[in-house]
Amino acid sequence: MSADLEALARELDAAFPRLTPAERLHTLAERVPGRTVFTTSLGIEDQMLTHLIFSEKLGIEVKTLDTGRLFPEAYQVWRDTEEKYGRRIRAVYPNGEALEEMVNDQGVDGLYYAPEFRKRCCGVRKVEPLGRALHGAAAWITGLRRDQSANRQGMEFVGFDAAHGLIKANPLFDWTREEIRLFTEDAHVPVNPLHAKGFLSIGCAPCTRAVKPGEPERAGRWWWEEETLRECGLHVEADGRVVRAKLVPGNTHGDAAFEGPTQ
Ligand code: SF4
Repeated sequence: MSADLEALARELDAAFPRLTPAERLHTLAERVPGRTVFTTSLGIEDQMLTHLIFSEKLGIEVKTLDTGRLFPEAYQVWRDTEEKYGRRIRAVYPNGEALEEMVNDQGVDGLYYAPEFRKRCCGVRKVEPLGRALHGAAAWITGLRRDQSANRQGMEFVGFDAAHGLIKANPLFDWTREEIRLFTEDAHVPVNPLHAKGFLSIGCAPCTRAVKPGEPERAGRWWWEEETLRECGLHVEADGRVVRAKLVPGNTHGDAAFEGPTQ
């Protein structure tokens, strides 16, 4: 099966440059032998894809990873989208026990204290739920764009994701942010109002800030870490040296990393 999916991924990757995003989604819905899942972050790229999937009534599952730390505006976009299209965006939540254990160990905002803490938070709130969201699927659709960051330059329109054992397709890979903005404006697609306030790439509230004019698009994500680490673990395996903040030397995890009592 995986050999068949790998061959199909290569075929679709060669075909995608000649197709519109809507045609790419139709092709995936028609050609993929199994379930296709689109994971939306509710950002502007993903809203365009949700619009196309719902408007074209495609048999593609739309899911979002609710980390529990999203901006209030993201929940508003989620609700507005369901009301506009009359379709449900399925929620996937972190494992309750793992979440409790992590928060009780490293604190509610431990992600600021050490890169290991931040990665653990992304692991519990995003990466493990993503695995469940994609379980049993044959294809995964994302809203990744080539020009979002240097980390994403080497990606493809369609590839085979060996980690999840499925086709990974990026139907907006060659679209620019401005093209997507114009499309969503023309089609009256609900978008997060934070985009207009300088939040170009929107993730969890504690880990997202507005960017200044001229700053890279993803400079507002995990801005206290080095640029090479600014990924959530869903798409890129991060590694390298990082900046640590307020960490007691010698301790890299657990309550002991904090100075003084934690409660
Ligand atoms: S983006 Fe921030 S709050 Fe969200 S899962 Fe990752 S570390 Fe946790």
